[in-house]
Amino acid sequence: MAVAKVSLLDALQEHFGFEAFKGNQEKIINSILAKKDTFVIMPTGGGKSLCYQLPALMNPGCALIVSPLIALMKNQVDLVRSYSSKDNVAHFLNSTLTKAQIKKVRTDLLSGKTKMLYVAPETLTKQENIDFFKDLEISFIAVDEAHCISEWGHDFRPEYRRLKEMIDQINPDLPIIALTATATPKVQSDIVKNLELRMPEVFISSFNRPNLYYEIRPKRKKEQTIKEIVKFIHSHKGKSGIIYTLNRKTTEELADMLVANGIKAVAYHAGLDATTRAQRQDMFLHEEVEVIVATIAFGMGIDKPDVRFVIHFNIPKSLENYYQETGRAGRDGLEGICVCFYSHKDVQKLEHLMRDKPLSEREMGAQLINETVAYAESAVCRRKVILHYFGEGLEKENCGNCDNCRNPKEKIEVKNRVVIVLKAIKELEERFGSEYVVNIIMGVINPQITTFKHDKLSVFGEGKEFDAHFWNSLIRQMMLEDLIEKDIEEYGLLKIKEKGHAFLKKPYSLMVALNHQFEEEAAEDDAE
Ligand code: ADP
Ligand code: ZN
Repeated sequence: MAVAKVSLLDALQEHFGFEAFKGNQEKIINSILAKKDTFVIMPTGGGKSLCYQLPALMNPGCALIVSPLIALMKNQVDLVRSYSSKDNVAHFLNSTLTKAQIKKVRTDLLSGKTKMLYVAPETLTKQENIDFFKDLEISFIAVDEAHCISEWGHDFRPEYRRLKEMIDQINPDLPIIALTATATPKVQSDIVKNLELRMPEVFISSFNRPNLYYEIRPKRKKEQTIKEIVKFIHSHKGKSGIIYTLNRKTTEELADMLVANGIKAVAYHAGLDATTRAQRQDMFLHEEVEVIVATIAFGMGIDKPDVRFVIHFNIPKSLENYYQETGRAGRDGLEGICVCFYSHKDVQKLEHLMRDKPLSEREMGAQLINETVAYAESAVCRRKVILHYFGEGLEKENCGNCDNCRNPKEKIEVKNRVVIVLKAIKELEERFGSEYVVNIIMGVINPQITTFKHDKLSVFGEGKEFDAHFWNSLIRQMMLEDLIEKDIEEYGLLKIKEKGHAFLKKPYSLMVALNHQFEEEAAEDDAE
């Protein structure tokens, strides 16, 4: 039974002092209070924590909150305690505690005073903990950062895969609430499957950040790119910004160059000792420096509301990373400029970084990189591409706040060529990826094609007069138009969607802008 509205709002005010719920919070809390499995997908800053904290405070017993980062656990507990007058309302249990501290936590749990216990997945692998939890009244399990379950997420943690098994040992009937700030349709389905959520109530908030401006710039020679960055920062004098680079050395080099150009900047990466890192982070937060040049080590848990720009010196390894990293701009809802430098060379560098990984990981990594390449080269609204990646549509054709919308490329009519692609996919019985489909359309002969006798298909060679770039662009756009999709289970196979079948029956006019073309030789090897 859902708790009456008025009492939920009272509880919100009583425990947190907030006037109203944000977004889906109230519905989510009702779902948890009704003991349903619940799946929450909400961008960072949306207010996820409150979704489990409030029902934890209201329910009898204690909620277990699984969280991947020991470092953030203490902050979270401190935050909960700051809202409450009682220190024992929340605890954490992980490998950093002493025996005496563990004893205190257990005493508080047994006394019933503790309403929230943050645990690392490792904590749940210890049998003595499982046995202890079995006898404890537990209200529900919250799995925070649930994307860690999926190899397709940006932060895969194998221990997360075993959570369900451990939860079942405690009590298989416990309601589970999974939360994440980033989940593509593939990651979403992995989470639901892996945690075996039972007919979960799913709450997906919009990922759109209308105040962020997205732009891709071709990356030329290193010095030239740095000049461009310096010019950009000078024209945003006194504003805070983050520059992301691929490796540690470049953060130092770039920061030095900026300083030489009169910009207050520091480097930040995991190779620095903890004190230096904390110092530099504080310098950035307190605006003693304007710019922090960082590897992806920087940003987790950073809450600076007025970061005005995020520049990517290299394209990130996935669009999900890009969304997270750019998401640190404009938290206050005001301007946030997101510029990413792009070159083929940098793509090769990313691929190179995976060379020693197992094959399956390399393939997965390559798919993710492909998505960022498609994003960079697309002439379609950037916002539309990003949102589509998260399974979300954008109503407007033109968002007005990305480079492609501000400087639209000329569009061409592609009705007949869309028909060719759809026919090719259909004749191939939806069993091939885009590379193969393009080869068929272009009439490429190779051993696989002749073995399957696909050179006998009616569409074989139908699109000879256009190059692979054209067809790849078109296929991308057809995905954005929801005519076709890449199968999320068998990643890569092209399937025709309902709208595509309708199009085949009754083709209509379709105007699209072809991808941008980036020069191959532009970026020299800068030995990064
Ligand atoms: P997330 O985990 O989704 O990134 P948080 O849980 O950290 O987001 O919440 C982001 C911020 O919003 C926090 O400062 C939190 O106190 C605040 N917040 C959450 N819910 C509400 C609400 N209903 N009213 C006002 N502020 C809220
Ligand atoms: Zn746009």
